Amino acid sequence: MNNKQIPVLKITAGLVACPACKKIGVTVKNVTVRHIVEKEQMERVGKGDYHLCMDPECDIAYYDEKGTIFDKRAIKVPLWFKKDASPKYACYCSRITENDVIKAVLEHGMQDMGTIRKFYDKDEKCQCKIKNPTGNCCTKAFNKAIRKGIESKNS
Ligand SMILES: [Zn+2]
Repeated sequence: MNNKQIPVLKITAGLVACPACKKIGVTVKNVTVRHIVEKEQMERVGKGDYHLCMDPECDIAYYDEKGTIFDKRAIKVPLWFKKDASPKYACYCSRITENDVIKAVLEHGMQDMGTIRKFYDKDEKCQCKIKNPTGNCCTKAFNKAIRKGIESKNS
């Protein structure tokens, strides 16, 4: 019997805890991870999907069930939700930072993601699947940055 094959972690498939902080990360497709990790790390990616640690204090970015780990220094872009992210991107496809969004709100009165994206990037193309470290659309982080701008305007 091959004990190594017993899929202990499969019981919690999709709910795999970060090996460092033990918090449950979000699932990220292999294709996304391939595009986000540094070139010299590519070989280690393999074929499986990954999990992304969302804890702001934790240094781990991607990890999988087999023990493969990429910390935040092994990837090409800063993770906006980690505490020392610099710059803090609201949109990875167009490389628009949170500060850019706030500026558009404060100085140009813009309050809409589409308008702000066009303002900074005329040829904006959604490539979140390979540009955003989560593989999901930037909408949530972008709208949060817009709200931040609006709040600072009103205060
Ligand atoms: Zn973690």
